[in-house]
Amino acid sequence: MNKINVTVWNEYGNEQKEQATAGIYPNGMHITIADFLNKDEDINAKTAILSEAEHGLTEEVLDNTDVLIWWGHKYHDKVDDHVASCIVERVQRGMGIIFLHSAHKSKPFMRLLGTSGSLCWNEADERCRVWTCAPAHPITQGIPQQFVLDREEMYGEPFGIPEPQQTVFISWFQSGNVFRSGVTFQRENGRIFYFQPGHETYPAYHNEFVQRIITNAVKWAKPVVKTAELVCPNTPPLEKF
Ligand code: ZN
Repeated sequence: MNKINVTVWNEYGNEQKEQATAGIYPNGMHITIADFLNKDEDINAKTAILSEAEHGLTEEVLDNTDVLIWWGHKYHDKVDDHVASCIVERVQRGMGIIFLHSAHKSKPFMRLLGTSGSLCWNEADERCRVWTCAPAHPITQGIPQQFVLDREEMYGEPFGIPEPQQTVFISWFQSGNVFRSGVTFQRENGRIFYFQPGHETYPAYHNEFVQRIITNAVKWAKPVVKTAELVCPNTPPLEKF
């Protein structure tokens, strides 16, 4: 079986600048995520960051990516419009994409879903309890009915997304807020998963269940079919009339 080629993209700005984050993800979150994905024998994960030419997402890289993982926060506007358009087209053609945490305001997320991605938030060292809503879904296999992240940024409803294809996880926060923290969508041939945990000053990507969820999501989001281009062909009639 061919391995699933994953590109883990990170804006990689905060990690270099914030001491607290450097302690949790000394080489950046993209490296941490790629490292745990590469422990799975079915996955071949590489990384790309904002400061690289074309943000590390050239046509060649995207052509060889089955699933793109996206983490961005402060520099959404620095992502080139052309690169964002290429990503959207690749998803429509069949590439899977996983949006993590603050990627809810990224250009690819908002363009693919056609909504604002708005939500309410608060950074107050809150305990977060992640509830599994869809125990039969491939993304939740090996995940308990609920698990706790001791510290996470609160994300709350209303979440500015279309009605999901499936709500896979809902999270509860100490503040009383709840959030649709794991949701799936399909856009033409491409599968999309959004997953909320992963604020840069908290260690969510070291949590075994978070790692398992992202690994499961890669396998769920891999292309079923990948078309070479999106066309509107003129089709001759099949029947005489
Ligand atoms: Zn955050």
